[in-house]
Amino acid sequence: MPVKKLRVEDLLGCNKFNADEKNSHIVIDRAICAKCMNKPCLVACPAVLYTQEDENSEVKFDHLGCLECGTCRIVCHNHGNKGIVKWGYPVGACGISYRYG
Ligand code: SF4
Ligand code: SF4
Repeated sequence: MPVKKLRVEDLLGCNKFNADEKNSHIVIDRAICAKCMNKPCLVACPAVLYTQEDENSEVKFDHLGCLECGTCRIVCHNHGNKGIVKWGYPVGACGISYRYG
């Protein structure tokens, strides 16, 4: 039987999220982010949860849709300005349930 290849977007779309809308498991300090030269989070997050409208705008972060991969923490602390002041996993049964590994 032929195996159908799915695009990354399709695979991610199969995941299930139990959102904790009120509590963000990741917190950034926008004042620290404003002084971050490279802002690697903007390109490193696979879910594109760090955004900036233009180079003069503040960095925004939306925790909903987080894949809990930890990439942002690594790039922020190794190549950014350590503006992520809290990084953890969603509490309880909240967060992502992967369906395709
Ligand atoms: S943990 Fe991964 S998916 Fe979540 S915000 Fe960080 S880089 Fe993005
Ligand atoms: S890499 Fe860290 S310090 Fe730099 S903009 Fe992103 S979250 Fe802020």
